Amino acid sequence: MNNKLYGNLIFELSKEGRRGYSLPRFECEKYRIPQSLCREKDAELPECDELTVVRHYTNHSANNFGVDNGFYPLGSCTMKYNPCISEEMASLPAFRDLHPLQPADSVAGAREVCRDLEQLLCRLTGMHAFTLKPYAGAHGELTGLMVIRGYHESRHDDKRTKVLIPDSAHGTNPASAAVCGLEVLEVKSLSDGTVDVEDLKAIIQVQGSEIAGMMMTNPNTLGLFEKNIPEIAKLVHDCGGLMYYDGANLNPMLGACRPGDMGFDVMHVNLHKTFSTPHGGGGPGAGPVGVRAGLEAFFPAVSPYEGNFAVLMRAYAYILSLGKEHVKEVGPLATLNANYIKERLKDLYLLPIEGLCKHEFVFDGLADKSTGVTTMDVAKRLLDYGYHAPTIYFPLLFHESLMIEPTENESKETIDGFIEVMRKIAQEAKERPEELKAAPHLTPIGRVDDVQAAKHPVVTYQQMQHDDN
Ligand SMILES: *Cc1c(COP(=O)(O)O)cnc(C)c1O
Repeated sequence: MNNKLYGNLIFELSKEGRRGYSLPRFECEKYRIPQSLCREKDAELPECDELTVVRHYTNHSANNFGVDNGFYPLGSCTMKYNPCISEEMASLPAFRDLHPLQPADSVAGAREVCRDLEQLLCRLTGMHAFTLKPYAGAHGELTGLMVIRGYHESRHDDKRTKVLIPDSAHGTNPASAAVCGLEVLEVKSLSDGTVDVEDLKAIIQVQGSEIAGMMMTNPNTLGLFEKNIPEIAKLVHDCGGLMYYDGANLNPMLGACRPGDMGFDVMHVNLHKTFSTPHGGGGPGAGPVGVRAGLEAFFPAVSPYEGNFAVLMRAYAYILSLGKEHVKEVGPLATLNANYIKERLKDLYLLPIEGLCKHEFVFDGLADKSTGVTTMDVAKRLLDYGYHAPTIYFPLLFHESLMIEPTENESKETIDGFIEVMRKIAQEAKERPEELKAAPHLTPIGRVDDVQAAKHPVVTYQQMQHDDN
């Protein structure tokens, strides 16, 4: 890419008076914005012709990496392929051009999509009712906790202000509890990452009457199935609490089991991790919340209308395009793919917890620690080979965590290609460790100083210009 021609920033390409587009003439005098509300000086916007703008952004986009460019084995965040059919359905003009204030009788089709999706989610999870309003997983957690609080309040059980959360939980769990005004009681994990039932018993014995509920993630943060759910659910129910299921990663469960059958009362699903939708850069998403019968009366209004409708459309299309038969293959395939990679690499990478994983698993860096090559070096080197890095240094249970999730979408050839490169990198670590420590070598930007970037981030254009001088 020629940076001089197309520029690092669109502002650098601005030429006074250049235009790529002209707005229709303004003909509605009565809607003119009052002078007192108008800005005194024109906004400093870049002025460019259309071709320059198109080239600028197209060239920048070519520097990015996405699921559409290559394999993206990011654990915990599930970067899943978003099939063209999902995109096509979401952009049908009848759906894409909806206005939230349209008369209800003109949006019957969209409403039917929503009611139908709720029903499909009920059948897939074993829940009784769903609300599609939450905009993300964390938003779903907050919504679900509000349901739990509403339930206790309706029974005048006002002392229940505490929520049990395993120490291995995703950070959004304690954050959502805090936003909901609940106090977090941390439950310890065993060395295999599953919930320590004895610790749970001890907490419940002392504080049982104040417990609103327990949040559990399954498969847990290590990608392992929590085996003691029936016992845990009984302990929590017996003390008067409700069970919350963090179903952000529902894909390995599809076709295998349902949270509603395991004793959970409230749950959320991340549609953007399980049922397609591109979600890089923090959005967009949807975190519908499901409840067992009787709790739907406590659904709060956490967003207007029907939440993130275009995301709901993509999820609906994903489920329908798989159909009743094939949607059941999602869980087994995601599980097979993850276990296949794990088994093919565990002689060269350190597998701290043996056994069958679900949709993802964690290595603790390279098995041979004598080379000094770290998880960070492996992740950077993968970029040179055209693969996105897995999730690194999370979970915090191990020093060199390398968390891999292939999803059910990837072909055997793609997965074999990744395995081959991972094995090659392990070999390079022995033969040429210095080359790995300086990777990546082939990306538009080489190794960045992440400490500097975290401590002194440069986030404004003015500052960049200043630093250049
Ligand atoms: C991704 C994730 C969340 C949060 O979902 P967002 O849509 O990012 O808010 C919560 N819990 C788990 C286990 C997750 O993996």
